[in-house]
Amino acid sequence: MKLCVIKGDGIGHEVVPAAVRILQQLMPEVEVVYGRAGWDCFEQTGQALPATTIQLARESQAVLFGACSSPSYAVEGYASPIVQLRRATETYANLRPTRFLPVPTAREGVDLVVVRENTEDLYIGDEHTADAGDTGTATKRITRRASERIAHTAFRLARQEGRHRVTIVHKGNVLPQTDGLFRRVAYEVSRQYSDIETDELLVDTAAYWMVKEPTRFDVILTPNLYGDILSDMAAAWGGGLGMAPALNLGDEVAIAEPVHGSAPDIAGQGIANPTAAVLSAAMLARHKWGQVTIADHIEAAVHRALSRGEHTADVSGGIGMSTAAFVDAICAELG
Ligand code: ATP
Repeated sequence: MKLCVIKGDGIGHEVVPAAVRILQQLMPEVEVVYGRAGWDCFEQTGQALPATTIQLARESQAVLFGACSSPSYAVEGYASPIVQLRRATETYANLRPTRFLPVPTAREGVDLVVVRENTEDLYIGDEHTADAGDTGTATKRITRRASERIAHTAFRLARQEGRHRVTIVHKGNVLPQTDGLFRRVAYEVSRQYSDIETDELLVDTAAYWMVKEPTRFDVILTPNLYGDILSDMAAAWGGGLGMAPALNLGDEVAIAEPVHGSAPDIAGQGIANPTAAVLSAAMLARHKWGQVTIADHIEAAVHRALSRGEHTADVSGGIGMSTAAFVDAICAELG
């Protein structure tokens, strides 16, 4: 087994080594190789995601990705490395679970997974301007093929995890040719999973319920953009961005990637919460390598450490341990 590690920028350099340490403690047989990507890489090499990194990711088939700083304005030659990497590795499903963990900022009873389509929608990057920059247009692409495979992923996951309901989230009333297609295909696929209940919500209604009563959700099946937004909302109920794991999954490659970004405001201070990265690594062990016992063991160790009141400052509104001390606490719980 091989793991390609890409720390990226900012707190990626702090939380990714924590997750690698835990994986290596339990799976010493995993060979770790390192690839570069991100803003620093772009400034030093002119490439945000070098071809050698894509090659390493494809060869390893398992990737642990930290976070990259992407500027919020257009920079010639720069494109989001994670969006490029997802595309290059055909990791078409993004699984983003939010489960209650015992920290002051989490909401008891929440246990949901956002299954987000990862390859199309407005994120295909087909944008252009007219009227000397005063009109901007972006293409929203939804295909039957991508909708079908993400729907199968959602229903299979529901079965695997003993879940009961898949909620299709869309805006088909306003966008019948794109979201309407996604909805139609999702319902078609649902007929093959008669043991799982299927319902639907418009994305605005889903956002309302995510704020008002997140415990009503089980599996959310949704296109790329809505999945991006709803999973960040859900992350707030899980205790915050520092607690939210994710896995990009394709037929060949899987990329574990915490939901949070590079957090430049706290980078280099040794206070970043490594939980999201550690739980993302556990998802990789579970879904890519089939190491269910190891994944359970990591999740239980994180749970026990948090139950004993050990955590970083972000989940308690001010006082907390350093990244290093909290990782030591998790490692101690691993035995
Ligand atoms: P980027 O530009 O890379 O997206 P960002 O700061 O805009 O970075 P996030 O990194 O997602 O976005 O962070 C949003 C906020 O959440 C920041 O204030 C950051 O300090 C906090 N945060 C995110 N991740 C963590 C973490 N692992 N531990 C502690 N705080 C975090």
